[in-house]
Amino acid sequence: MSDRLPGFNTRAIHAGQEPDPATGAVIVPVHLTTTYKQDGVGGLRGGYEYSRSANPTRTALQEALAALEQGTSGMAFASGLAAEDTLLRTVCEPGSHVVLGGDAYGGTYRLISKVLSRWGVEHTPADLNDADALRDAMRPTTRVIWCETPTNPLLNIADIALTADVAHDGGALLVVDNTFASPYLQQPLTLGADVVVHSTTKYLGGHSDVVGGALVTADAELGERLAFNQNAMGAVAGPFDAWLVLRGIKTLGVRMDRHQENAARIADFLLGRSDVASVLYPGLPHHPGHDIAARQMSGFGGMLSFRLLGGEEQALRVCERAKVFTLAESLGGVESLIEHPGRMTHASAAGSPLEVPADLVRLSIGIENVEDLLADLEQALG
Ligand SMILES: *Cc1c(COP(=O)(O)O)cnc(C)c1O
Repeated sequence: MSDRLPGFNTRAIHAGQEPDPATGAVIVPVHLTTTYKQDGVGGLRGGYEYSRSANPTRTALQEALAALEQGTSGMAFASGLAAEDTLLRTVCEPGSHVVLGGDAYGGTYRLISKVLSRWGVEHTPADLNDADALRDAMRPTTRVIWCETPTNPLLNIADIALTADVAHDGGALLVVDNTFASPYLQQPLTLGADVVVHSTTKYLGGHSDVVGGALVTADAELGERLAFNQNAMGAVAGPFDAWLVLRGIKTLGVRMDRHQENAARIADFLLGRSDVASVLYPGLPHHPGHDIAARQMSGFGGMLSFRLLGGEEQALRVCERAKVFTLAESLGGVESLIEHPGRMTHASAAGSPLEVPADLVRLSIGIENVEDLLADLEQALG
């Protein structure tokens, strides 16, 4: 291949995934081994000695992740939260401060507010859309601005380049949780972010059959510190999990195309309903983040939320009546899911500044035939 960066789908299918030199196997094998024979003491073949430190299946995934995000170091973890914990405990220390978006993923908020707080890390929720509020939230001890865009579950959009400037002016790092967009639609490192976080459980895995997480950075020094702690803290992805994510990644582009094609149709349908108070989807021209999303993303994704005039009662009823949409937490798989964030994914944020509206329903739009999804929503809304 030439020096030109291969296209996204080519990278997804080939980066880190050369046919196995020993057998010619086209697909990277699941290397179910903990340890590696040494040719004499310290004589490692290919750098492998113990599978917490490195495993060839995980290496393949890590190289693919780095290529997709246009970073230089990729690291695969046992879950998104394991990745977040490793990252935060690498770049923070007792006394450090983190600014996070006002509607960050509930689990991220819980990690920071309930676990890292006991370790002396402080935090301030801020509206990432308000640059002045964001600057006000910064302290001399701020090490990280934690940004999700689009956010979960409110689909707010933050301007990554602008947020990176605020972070860097304050001597902090910008971390972007890119789970919702996936690297197919948005590559935050190219917009100034220092680290990208993924729950690979979601779109990267794509089939609701594996829990995993990832970090990617283009900063070599930071990449080394993170890799050191990935091994020292040990929350690594197992070989089979790494293999499943790698398989999912190969079809990320075609899946995302269909996810967002279906999402756009469903957004239009919900807009036309008199019982729907608002539709939260960045692809809609009236969405407050539409212009920024159009600039920094190559598409608007497959996640959509809506609020019901009938309040919590109607929101719960719609969730329970849906049939093609499965009532379940998580997102990003080929099957459509429906959930009530207030009672389910974001229940841990109840009573906090990150509490979500009770009349909100979140959809993870799958890749089924859109007519079936529309008919299901129609009957569930009643
Ligand atoms: C699911 C999710 C996480 C956490 O990832 P796990 O793999 O469940 O640990 C973090 N951020 C976002 C946006 C998520 O959707």
